[in-house]
Amino acid sequence: MKVTEHIQQANGKSLFSIEIIPPIKGQNIAELFDSIEPLMEFKPPFVDVTYHREELIEKKHPSGLIQKVPVRRRPGTVGICAKLMERFKVDPVPHVICGGFTKDETEDFLYDLHYLGIDNTLVLRGDPEKSAGVFKPKEGGHAYATDLISQVVDMNHGRLLHEETEAQPTTFCIGVAGYPEKHFEAPNHANDLRYLKRKVELGADYIVTQMFFDNQKYFDFVKRCRAEGINVPIIPGLKPISTKKQLTGLPRIFHLDFPEELVKAVEDCKNDQQVREVGVEFGIKQCKELLDFGVPVLHFYTMGKSDSVKRIAEAVF
Ligand SMILES: Cc1cc2nc3c(=O)[nH]c(=O)nc-3n(C[C@H](O)[C@H](O)[C@H](O)COP(=O)(O)OP(=O)(O)OC[C@H]3O[C@@H](n4cnc5c(N)ncnc54)[C@H](O)[C@@H]3O)c2cc1C
Repeated sequence: MKVTEHIQQANGKSLFSIEIIPPIKGQNIAELFDSIEPLMEFKPPFVDVTYHREELIEKKHPSGLIQKVPVRRRPGTVGICAKLMERFKVDPVPHVICGGFTKDETEDFLYDLHYLGIDNTLVLRGDPEKSAGVFKPKEGGHAYATDLISQVVDMNHGRLLHEETEAQPTTFCIGVAGYPEKHFEAPNHANDLRYLKRKVELGADYIVTQMFFDNQKYFDFVKRCRAEGINVPIIPGLKPISTKKQLTGLPRIFHLDFPEELVKAVEDCKNDQQVREVGVEFGIKQCKELLDFGVPVLHFYTMGKSDSVKRIAEAVF
């Protein structure tokens, strides 16, 4: 089933969902599935699986020469989606990105999903290559999520890149990313919102937000979206803080602002065990407020760890 159908069927009741990240190549995949098993009691109707492009890593040759080689450190998005369907009977939401793909490769990737019976996609531009710093599309690929949405919508209408005759239409539900605190490259909120509106006009069915810790930022974002005529569900993305390092690490990576109350509480912690307690307590308060607001789903970025998310879900559902 599509994410939007799950939301409709819930009839105003907030759902629980999670995002998982494929493990680094060579690690044990069973650990990932075991780590999310305890969360299945909260009946997530869908589970997002991130997609990670190639990164250039330095390889030293016996001659001493250092060569940069492209390596995908976290492959397996499609395989993990198939396993999620088999093991947990949930609808997987594979992330589909522009970065590292030509349009033809995207078409084939989408066919893999279609053949597996996957009806959901989260359509994204993708992170820039770490070594490049700025996003560069692959030659023959898409530069923005808007372009990739158009390709998925075309396939949903039976239009392929090179076929003259109409193809059997796919049925992808399209989620997109939204940024309550603004995408870091956008010159201002208004500009960012214009492109978000464009994504919805082109065919996005719902929005999932970047993680945030200040609910007011989400409430303001929803208000601005609605004022602009963006009327699709806006799912809040959430992450319980669990280490002191995240106080500086998460703002650096995700361009977010922590509320002062949370910063002070984490700074007062003597160790990460105490930070985890603070994270759970704060997460419960944050989620209760979001449930009162009537959010369609509480969507948790698990990053392979379920303890804190489980305790929050137990307290609020
Ligand atoms: C919920 C969520 C899940 C994510 N999952 C992944 C993942 O699995 N893999 C991964 O690599 N990254 C992931 N990301 C990170 C994401 O790829 C980055 O934030 C990326 O920098 C932007 O992606 P986007 O789809 O929002 O881009 P876009 O919507 O393309 O926007 C990128 C920037 O360009 C502007 N813009 C948008 N459209 C246009 C246009 N047509 N012309 C000019 N400017 C435009 C926007 O305002 C924005 O500043 C995720 C992010 C979120 C919030």
